Amino acid sequence: MSDTITAQAACPECDASVGFGREPLSGQVCRCPDCGVELEVTCLSPLTLEVAPEIEEDWGE
Ligand SMILES: [Zn+2]
Repeated sequence: MSDTITAQAACPECDASVGFGREPLSGQVCRCPDCGVELEVTCLSPLTLEVAPEIEEDWGE
């Protein structure tokens, strides 16, 4: 089996190439392998990534 990268896009933070092993979904969150930022797929054609907003799990008060 070859590990062909189906799609890739540039990280908006560091411009690194972020590859997807399988077809990405709209709204999918991934992590940049280079700078580690969380990225969200905002558009599929062309494949566009945006930095995902930090989710603060603040369910306390
Ligand atoms: Zn990056």
